[in-house]
Amino acid sequence: MDAVKFIWMNGKLTPWEESNTHILTHTLHYGTGVFEGIRFYDTPKGPAIFKLKEHVDRLFYSAKAFEMNIPYSKEEIMTAIIKTVGENELTTGYIRPLVYFGAEKLGINPTGNSINVSIAAWYWGAYLGENPIKVKTSDFIRIHPKSTIADAKICGHYVNSTLASLQIKRAGYDEGLLLDYKGNIAEGPGENLFLVKNGKVITPKSGTILPGITRATIMDICGDLNIEVREETLKLEDAYNADEAFFVGTAAEVTPIGSIDDNLISEKMGEVTSKIRNAYMDIVKGKNSNYEKDLSYVR
Ligand code: PMP
Repeated sequence: MDAVKFIWMNGKLTPWEESNTHILTHTLHYGTGVFEGIRFYDTPKGPAIFKLKEHVDRLFYSAKAFEMNIPYSKEEIMTAIIKTVGENELTTGYIRPLVYFGAEKLGINPTGNSINVSIAAWYWGAYLGENPIKVKTSDFIRIHPKSTIADAKICGHYVNSTLASLQIKRAGYDEGLLLDYKGNIAEGPGENLFLVKNGKVITPKSGTILPGITRATIMDICGDLNIEVREETLKLEDAYNADEAFFVGTAAEVTPIGSIDDNLISEKMGEVTSKIRNAYMDIVKGKNSNYEKDLSYVR
């Protein structure tokens, strides 16, 4: 990642190279933090953060999982995020707010530790590239919803994602696909999945996924484009037999899938994927006035 000037740490813009934490930080040992991934884009009216409120709402929702009382209001965090992007003079990129327990005590129960907040922002291009990707189902299943709070964005959940990612990269694929404990399709390591079949768009139901903010936007876009969209329980065969497939997420945006487990879906980006992707990029880049409410301008 490209270094920038400042990272916001507990209320202060701190030089990048001084933005450190103690080695006994509880979150570092046990994954007991919560975080967000947010993107901002250059628009005709200057840099704007997409769905800032939704991301900050989810950060506070995730923090509740660990009974973390964030020592700032949602408004203060939103202002701090805007300031971090602005002071770093960035026009397009990615924002990573993190809420983490301090290093006061290392027992598994975190109660009594300080609650800390950091906000970093940097330039980050396409997460999975621009072309259709090769996807492989991971042997690791998605975390069981009764083992954790599946719809919170908890640092420790990403152990599951990282293991899947390492496994499929080792096998020569671009990205993984995780099934849930029932053998149904859940999601990618950092993306939600959509399939297109006979002109209709389908995505796995919530329950064993992170129901993404991009996923919600894509469902709205389908409404705008008069494309039927449904949440369904999906099996791997549904994916193998789909006419088109794509991953969505803040980092991944809309990424076309070329094949799943070596079953060819489409060599080139499909027509429906392409329409949805164009609509999404127009929205985040401030070219669709109906979505103006979702943009928070930086300057
Ligand atoms: N699932 C997982 C596991 C993720 O990490 C992400 C990225 N946050 C998503 C889905 C997509 O979520 P969003 O659209 O809110 O970025």
